[in-house]
Amino acid sequence: MPPSAAPPDPDRILGCLLAGAVGDALGAPVEAMSLAAIRERHGPYGVAGYTGPAPGAISDETQLTLFTAQALAQASVRARARGIGGATLGLLQSAYLAWARGQGEPIPEQPSLSPGRLASVPALMSRRGPGRATLAALRKAAERQKPGWPLGKVDEPINGSKGSAGVVRAAPCGFGFPGVKGTFTLGCEAAALTHGDPSGQLPAGVLAAATASLVRGADLPAALDLAAAELLRRPHHRETAAALDAAIALARTGPPSPERLESLGRGFTAPEALAIGVYAALCAESAGGGAEEIGRRGLLIAVNHSGDSDSTGSVCGNLLGARHGSRAVPAGWRDALEVGAAVADLAEVCALEFGPNPPADEWGEPPMSWHMRVFGS
Ligand SMILES: [Mg+2]
Repeated sequence: MPPSAAPPDPDRILGCLLAGAVGDALGAPVEAMSLAAIRERHGPYGVAGYTGPAPGAISDETQLTLFTAQALAQASVRARARGIGGATLGLLQSAYLAWARGQGEPIPEQPSLSPGRLASVPALMSRRGPGRATLAALRKAAERQKPGWPLGKVDEPINGSKGSAGVVRAAPCGFGFPGVKGTFTLGCEAAALTHGDPSGQLPAGVLAAATASLVRGADLPAALDLAAAELLRRPHHRETAAALDAAIALARTGPPSPERLESLGRGFTAPEALAIGVYAALCAESAGGGAEEIGRRGLLIAVNHSGDSDSTGSVCGNLLGARHGSRAVPAGWRDALEVGAAVADLAEVCALEFGPNPPADEWGEPPMSWHMRVFGS
């Protein structure tokens, strides 16, 4: 049964952010490396844990996912304080601009940005291989110096990109819950800030909608079914629907292998990144075992291929973490994750803000202390 207005499970929110970050950290050192080169360096089974010069270091995938989560919590606090919504996409764009500017991107100073607490975490503001389409779109938006006014929209495409960056940061769009349809739309609109092609947006809708169901208790097949049904109601869904169908069908036909995975593509486009993340998550589940075994297996399937390993690791981690909670992340990986404390803090903020009893004073408004925690000032 679809979990309608049930509150999100705090541990599934934590799992979603944590496993996504771990998938990013596992995949980043082998991003765009060929399968042959991965095997040559790491042995026949490929990467089996953190590697590279800074083991456990996250990259732009996690940075943008966390800024998305923070901006959505800020939007919720604002809506509760003033009784009006509608500022969500402006806060998201503001957050992305603060992120881009903080890592030295030459864009003009923006008025009244709310970078929040994340901006004080150096690993989240340093340059970690940000995508070209994302930066170009943000530069364009920055020219207007109106960070709270979204430039890229679903019906006013900012470019023709269907790169994976829009879907990779979309999972937190499922933490609050305006219904499957509303969540799907929010995922698409958030992606549209930087990615103009429908195939750059619809996979973000799928991941957002699936995450919304998962953190409210659904299992993975049910969450994907609901998201896929919503996808089919949207225009221009063919490419994304074909990628998702291929992933689900491939996961049913036998044990996973990198060669089989690569028949889904490389993950540089959003439909492929979604497909590979879904494939890895489904394969890990069908092999059985406990949450930690499933999480470890899924993340390693998701990063060992010749493509955009940190993007696909991140998507797979979001799904398995949202399904199985923080236990999906092996303790050693969690302990050695670069931004573990920031992830735990933000997950707590999201769980409270999107939970059944968000912090409120005697008049039912968010208290100043909560505002300070969510906005950082
Ligand atoms: Mg990256």
